[in-house]
Amino acid sequence: MMYSWSRSLTREKWWRCPFRAGHSEAIFRRKHEEAGIREDRRRRTARGKENNVATSQQVSPLRKLKATREDGRLSPMFLVHPFFLIHAAVLGIFFVPFRWKFVVLMLVAYVVRMFFVTAVYHRYFSHRSYKLNRFWQFLLAFAAESSGQKGVLWWAAHHRTHHQYSDTEQDVHSPIWKGLWWSHVGWILSTDFDGYDPRLIQDFGKYPELRWLNKYHSVPIVTLGVLTWLLGGWSAFFWVFVGSTILLYHGTFSINSLSHLWGTRRFDTPDDSRNNFVLALITLGEGWHNNHHKFMYACRQGMKWWEVDFTYYVLRMLSWVGITREIREFRLPSDAAKDAAV
Ligand SMILES: [Zn+2]
Ligand SMILES: [Zn+2]
Repeated sequence: MMYSWSRSLTREKWWRCPFRAGHSEAIFRRKHEEAGIREDRRRRTARGKENNVATSQQVSPLRKLKATREDGRLSPMFLVHPFFLIHAAVLGIFFVPFRWKFVVLMLVAYVVRMFFVTAVYHRYFSHRSYKLNRFWQFLLAFAAESSGQKGVLWWAAHHRTHHQYSDTEQDVHSPIWKGLWWSHVGWILSTDFDGYDPRLIQDFGKYPELRWLNKYHSVPIVTLGVLTWLLGGWSAFFWVFVGSTILLYHGTFSINSLSHLWGTRRFDTPDDSRNNFVLALITLGEGWHNNHHKFMYACRQGMKWWEVDFTYYVLRMLSWVGITREIREFRLPSDAAKDAAV
């Protein structure tokens, strides 16, 4: 009785108000929700253990730099990990002349590269929310990997696991289960997740060129770094390449960590995903994470006009020139009802 009252009262109002958070009705609703979420987590965790998803297959014997220990703490090996080295390299900006144009170029590079992360790693390879031909598929995969976030098959396989077991013990980067640090970067620095289960990504794993690109995922980011240096010298290298790469890491990772903690919930999804305007701006639309967990097949993640989703806008424009095809839209229950009535 109470449960249905709280659902009917809050869902409609949340739908209308963009900045609503922490309201007493919402808190009231959460109390009821959480009981359901806990039960659902318990069931899905049990199911995950049964399936025993092998996320640590194919670990390269050469990659034994264990930056993060199993308990989530940093080990001294962190100091020689490439992720630390690129953070240290940003100090190079103090040894080159300052120019405002490099700051602007860094921000432009961040936006362009973030588009490839969200449009390609996430909306294409993880969720197949639109189609590309084989040429564009390879080219965009190359562009995405220039962000330094490993191979497209690796990225998508782990992301599919995240959706399958969101906020359960099997979720590789749940801040609810494993803490903010682990969900933000710990799981990436740990060698426990260097491998991936190829069964989760057979649809793209069948292409040999993608398997090659996935294996040699350093090639695109090294190419970009060298090109930046050749074109703009050390100033461009430190400001535009290193600076935008670091911003890109933390912009992307904020979705794994903060978007399951900070924001509002429009839908009663069985996880803790949130919608957040700030994160949506930083990530070109990925901050509408609760919408996304509800309609994970949909290319568009912002559902209302004010829910800005730049990635979707660009993908829509690319469809006008024939690069992207069959963009999948979210379908509300009312849409299905309309179809049935026709
Ligand atoms: Zn999520
Ligand atoms: Zn997703």
